[in-house]
Amino acid sequence: MSDTKVWHEKLFIGGQWVAPSTDQRIEIVSPVTEEVLGSVPEAATADIDKAVAAARKAFDEGPWPRMSPAERGDVMRRIGKEVQARFDEMIPSFTEEIGAPLAISQAFHDNARKMWEDAATLHERATFEEDREWEGGRGKLVREPVGVVATIIPWNGPVATASLKIAPALAAGCTVILKPAPEGPSSTLMLAEALEAAGLPEGVVSVLPAGRETGEYLVSHPGVDKVSFTGSTAAGRKIMSLCGDRIARVTLELGGKSAAIIADDIPLDEVLPSLAPAGFISSGQVCAALTRILVPRERQQELLDALVPIYEGLPVGDPRVEGTVLGPVAAERQRDRVESYIEIGKEEGARIATGGERPAMDKGWYVQPTIFADVRTDMRIAQEEIFGPVVSVIPFDSIDEAVEIANGTDYGLSGAVYAKDTEIAEAIARRVRTGQIGINGWDMCVTQPFGGYKQSGLGREGNVEGLGAFLETKLIQFPPAG
Ligand code: NAD
Repeated sequence: MSDTKVWHEKLFIGGQWVAPSTDQRIEIVSPVTEEVLGSVPEAATADIDKAVAAARKAFDEGPWPRMSPAERGDVMRRIGKEVQARFDEMIPSFTEEIGAPLAISQAFHDNARKMWEDAATLHERATFEEDREWEGGRGKLVREPVGVVATIIPWNGPVATASLKIAPALAAGCTVILKPAPEGPSSTLMLAEALEAAGLPEGVVSVLPAGRETGEYLVSHPGVDKVSFTGSTAAGRKIMSLCGDRIARVTLELGGKSAAIIADDIPLDEVLPSLAPAGFISSGQVCAALTRILVPRERQQELLDALVPIYEGLPVGDPRVEGTVLGPVAAERQRDRVESYIEIGKEEGARIATGGERPAMDKGWYVQPTIFADVRTDMRIAQEEIFGPVVSVIPFDSIDEAVEIANGTDYGLSGAVYAKDTEIAEAIARRVRTGQIGINGWDMCVTQPFGGYKQSGLGREGNVEGLGAFLETKLIQFPPAG
């Protein structure tokens, strides 16, 4: 470890850099070189206790929840500027640790900026108080911050995912503890520096990188009122059950297996510019990726003739080099997982149209971008989230069947419908049970409500709907008139 970088000696607890309770450190390994890049301190349960106590005190007694929403909005604006001021450090650091190409890292961080800017004006759109009248009575409906919030995020876009939670939580007047994943936590410590520089009152935010067990301790903590989690459906299920023990509020943003439905009338050159990258972006490690492509049976070969050359021409390589479109997947276990699904797909009888191997690289956790054709909806590769650059092309015989296939998984996060007639496309989109769906395009729109149907999650993030996840509603009843 002597020639590697020590990013931080301390943890960010209650707005201050504090010596950790143990000397445990998280080693960060490069997915490109497979060498240790450096380390950050690992939080333990005693650090969680300190952070929850600080957040509790700041919520119960401090100024933050008592400031006006507009005053908090000004702080949000300052945080956004401080975050953006650190892009030169954050963007390459995320690329180095996770292997996402620089352009992707830039786009993720730009999303983070948008979330802070959006949070700065949320109070102008949200209703924190309103008069209510009913038969025989009148009163006030007030929306109050839910309390101490624990946020847990994965590694695939940490600053953006953290901002999507912390910005509305702070705008609501909550206090927050962030637990980033042990893979690639450095940029979240840079986010902590930005929060510190913007000047939040004592106790309001903590950032504690740690693993799963410490995460369970945090979500089970009696001092935590609300949990906002992004990650796998398996972990979400566990976290929801832990929250259930004490009826803690919970928002879940989980996995996906999103479908693109291509109608029979639309030329492929109107489809592929958005469809193709939506399958392999960030090596497929995006929850909303379009990993199932549903195509009329008679158009499958036409689609493959157009899509395979795109996949085969992708610049795969070092994500730190400008122009690279596909880097490695983030971790060795992630590559093992993707490769095991490629084997499963072959055994299930799907046909590899391209990819399926490791590219010729000396080092790094690379997987060739892979297209399976002739996939049936009952196959595991059509049902389970792979989280790698692997898409399944599923032929269908009617739009009704396509809708049934699109709805035929446990997930419902994103999707797309491609049809020449946008009215027909909208009618199809309305039948797909999913949180966001594009017409003749695909986008993860994070400044509008984002979240999942079914096992893709619970609740919404983004905009006033996301703010609502951090508010409780109280009716104050006035005494009867005279
Ligand atoms: P993961 O669920 O293994 O881990 C995510 C985070 O949860 C990490 O910080 C981890 O330490 C923590 N964690 C895991 N188990 C926990 C437990 N029992 N208690 C408390 N904390 C726990 O997921 P991952 O492999 O890091 O990330 C990939 C997954 O995240 C994919 O399924 C992807 O679809 C999902 N994801 C969803 C969204 C969304 O908005 N819906 C966004 C990004 C990623």
